[in-house]
Amino acid sequence: MTTTVQPTVPPRPKATQKTHRAAPRTLLSPKAVSPRPILPQFYETLATALGPMHWWPARTPFEVIVGAILTQNTAWVNVQRAIANLRRERLLTPRALERVGQGKLSRLVRPSGYFRQKAKKLKAFVRFLRSDFAGSLARMLRIPTAELRERLLAVHGIGPETADSILLYAGNQPVFVVDAYTQRILFRHGLLGEKAGYEEARQLFEGSLPRDAKLFNEFHALLVKVGKNWCRPQQPRCEQCPLGPYLPSKPSPVVGVRL
Ligand code: SF4
Repeated sequence: MTTTVQPTVPPRPKATQKTHRAAPRTLLSPKAVSPRPILPQFYETLATALGPMHWWPARTPFEVIVGAILTQNTAWVNVQRAIANLRRERLLTPRALERVGQGKLSRLVRPSGYFRQKAKKLKAFVRFLRSDFAGSLARMLRIPTAELRERLLAVHGIGPETADSILLYAGNQPVFVVDAYTQRILFRHGLLGEKAGYEEARQLFEGSLPRDAKLFNEFHALLVKVGKNWCRPQQPRCEQCPLGPYLPSKPSPVVGVRL
């Protein structure tokens, strides 16, 4: 299926990039092109250049949630170590996390940093799951998206990015996850003000794209890859970046994002 391209959209990157036949380009139907076509074009370009991202790297929805909490303010490699510890101790279920002592839990998640706070957050989540949904993740994930988002945000330690990661990657619900990489990219491309907050960025994506969990899943992961590989806080490597052709002008060299 082909995406309609508006005349104001910059040309797509040329040949220097690898292409991957498996990239899910067909998620963008012609009907879906919005008055703000640049984000669908970003997606299409990145999916073609980088291929499928296979997110979220977890075995179960509950493991996604544990990872979403542990990844706050740390690199994923540290989360992997903490999750390996929890797996070794057979603690990657709501019931097991309810039962484990907080001291032991803190020690096990230590590699992810801020380990005492993160142990408390994990405990707060499983308490919420018990009190509101009888400990059933499936029951929690059946709640309508907007309502569940509000209820997650009321749990200790769950902010917008974590809540949306849970909704999208554990619940397969069409909510766009925004992170610092995303905000930096939007700002540098003139799509978002430097002082814009999380909700503004989220609305920009959700208002410009079809509400499709698979698309949101893939697009967020692609933007993370761009942020890690090219769109660094200082001295972005635009010449190598797949989004380079979309730059309105030279990007700001340093960006302070507000989440
Ligand atoms: S590295 Fe440059 S081209 Fe790539 S997303 Fe950042 S600002 Fe855009």
